[in-house]
Amino acid sequence: MIAIYEKLEKARLRATSTRVAVLSLFHAFPREHFTVEQVYRALCDQAEPCSLASVYRALALLSDARLIVSAALGDTRVVYELNRGERHYHVVCDRCARVAEVYDPEFEAQQAKVAEEHGFSFSSCNLVIFGVCAKCAGLAGN
Ligand SMILES: [Zn+2]
Ligand SMILES: [Zn+2]
Repeated sequence: MIAIYEKLEKARLRATSTRVAVLSLFHAFPREHFTVEQVYRALCDQAEPCSLASVYRALALLSDARLIVSAALGDTRVVYELNRGERHYHVVCDRCARVAEVYDPEFEAQQAKVAEEHGFSFSSCNLVIFGVCAKCAGLAGN
């Protein structure tokens, strides 16, 4: 819990109960991807006094401070995750919406090459790969 307060202080954010609860959730599940609603439900389950509006505000502030990062997975789904400082892409299951993370340095080098071929210096790539996860593919035959 101490680390959470330190992180908020370093980011010059006041340690409100919602911010502490939200950031604690991401540290408790450092590899999970949460929608706003999932964060909201997790906080309410802890009997934390919470409102959806305050969760939205906390997520926006924590994102601005780069303590967490958001990713758009398709047209409507936005997820938040702890900022572990690891570049990665997301693979999303079409059926169960499970999210996996992938990173391929060769693929990234290829993106830089493509950008350069068009006269751009590469900065980043926002990529989501859609497919069917092994679990869903296995269940499909039953
Ligand atoms: Zn699936
Ligand atoms: Zn991720």
